[in-house]
Amino acid sequence: MRTAHGDVETPAFMPVGTQGAVKGVTHRELDTLGAEILLSNTYHLYLRPGDDLIARRGGLHRFIGWNKPILTDSGGYQVFSLSDRRTIDENGAHFRSHLDGSAHSLTPEKAADIQAQLGSDVAMVLDECLAHPATEEAARLSMERTLRWAARARDRFVTLREGTVPGVTMSNPGQAQFGIVQGGVFPGLREVSAGETVKIGFEAYAIGGLSVGEPPAVMYDVVSRTTPCLPSDRPRYLMGTGTPGDLVESVARGIDLFDCVLPTRNARNGQLFTQDGPISIKNARYADDQGPPDPECGCPTCRTHSRAYLRHLFLSGEMAGSTLNTVHNLHFYLDTMRRIREAIEFGILADFARAFLDRYTRRARH
Ligand SMILES: [Zn+2]
Repeated sequence: MRTAHGDVETPAFMPVGTQGAVKGVTHRELDTLGAEILLSNTYHLYLRPGDDLIARRGGLHRFIGWNKPILTDSGGYQVFSLSDRRTIDENGAHFRSHLDGSAHSLTPEKAADIQAQLGSDVAMVLDECLAHPATEEAARLSMERTLRWAARARDRFVTLREGTVPGVTMSNPGQAQFGIVQGGVFPGLREVSAGETVKIGFEAYAIGGLSVGEPPAVMYDVVSRTTPCLPSDRPRYLMGTGTPGDLVESVARGIDLFDCVLPTRNARNGQLFTQDGPISIKNARYADDQGPPDPECGCPTCRTHSRAYLRHLFLSGEMAGSTLNTVHNLHFYLDTMRRIREAIEFGILADFARAFLDRYTRRARH
């Protein structure tokens, strides 16, 4: 994937830097781990420190000191999660800030404006995020509204690119905009959504509204049915997913781009991902364990520290514990993507996926 701040090898995993930082690690550590693109959250940056301030500071890349690609979400997911503090109508979402209660509106145009000011390399359109489970009729109405919003978002994006929206600075003239396919767990709706979104025309396309509580098999089925409807010469982005198994399963179904808080959030809760499945470092069995967290891992944490030490740091509430766990988990995710890319190069993805999934889930089965 080519962006205004460099190329990204796909399939790729994007660490989540909600507030312009990936929790627990510095940009330098991310760079060392080989992260090529970060995701940042429009909702949080819009409320604090504000997109006006970031535009005055030359855009998000300069403000946070990260020169590689950045993708921003539309802010919609966070706003829709504010269930008791927001209302939705045809124009957009209207909500009260979780910080100070102030009233705001997020429309398709406003989401494009904020992201233009942030200057991310990839901006996402505002989509309606449907709660799971939903009836087919509710999913259809929501998908149709998302299509109307996508057309408005694209119009605004084109106008922004011409530099003619008063009061909005286009911080990154090379910004791309991705459309989002919705339609819940209903493959027929997904096919309509994909076809119509491609007709509007975006630089690339994402699949939204999955990983919201549906069984993995349902998600894989929806992905299988949706990816063939999206152009094969553009990245396909599966939003907010997932477990290591989800990454492997979804690449095999045509996905090129992922983001998820699992490696970073779970690191802070003491869960470490390994090829034999996740382990909980707080477990008493590691109290005297001098072995590395993952004997096959080459990350700085595993090269230097023992399970006993990481458990001690976790129980003591030391910040370094969160950092060391996060370094390991991100290494595991980024390394898994490297191995997937290698398997694709060698034409052995199906064999790789079978071996990876068999090993990853073996301990859980016994
Ligand atoms: Zn490691």
